[in-house]
Amino acid sequence: MIKPEDAAKKPLPTPDADTAVFWKGLREGRLLLQHCLDCRHVQYYQQSLCRSCGSERLEHRAASGRGTVHSFSVVHRAPGPAFKDDTPYAVLLVELEEGPRMVSSFVGGDPEGVTFDMAVELVCEPITDEISLPRFRRVINKSPADH
Ligand SMILES: [Zn+2]
Repeated sequence: MIKPEDAAKKPLPTPDADTAVFWKGLREGRLLLQHCLDCRHVQYYQQSLCRSCGSERLEHRAASGRGTVHSFSVVHRAPGPAFKDDTPYAVLLVELEEGPRMVSSFVGGDPEGVTFDMAVELVCEPITDEISLPRFRRVINKSPADH
């Protein structure tokens, strides 16, 4: 049974030994990915083994923060009281430039304006002293001459 005071709070991740580096990175504005030194597989979700070959030789490297919207869904009905003020918001499946896909949410614009393959970039949003969450905003082309 969820207590009302807890339902009004958003669930937050709890860093542990495996993920402490990852959360520290986000606090510093960097999204760390695990690169396998044996098979070059890149994974987003922190694990002690490579998901592709089982190697333990994983190295953290900061992602570029650039990606595209692989899939998304605009949420109009909050999943709980804690999210009531956030609706509508867009949940994104972002394909990072490095390959991994991650679920995140869209910030800094109208969620109804999100489209497939839209270019997005990482924004680290501080939630508490310990936790910053990775969000994505639309990349605005600053110079039309690049086209
Ligand atoms: Zn590997």
